[in-house]
Amino acid sequence: MSQLTLEHHFNCPYCGAAISVVLDLSQRAEDYVEDCEVCCQPMRVAYATDDAELSWFRVDRLD
Ligand SMILES: [Zn+2]
Repeated sequence: MSQLTLEHHFNCPYCGAAISVVLDLSQRAEDYVEDCEVCCQPMRVAYATDDAELSWFRVDRLD
């Protein structure tokens, strides 16, 4: 069975640090809040998948 996860790299919308999250591609869409591992600010992570491939991704500041 293949692993339906993807490590996605992006820059923190607060401090600009290059960080990554592991996305669960078995979900059709997710929307959650995660703290930056560098500056600890909360950011909203949202993504959607299509046939277990990432089709849409965005990160927003909460402030
Ligand atoms: Zn940060």
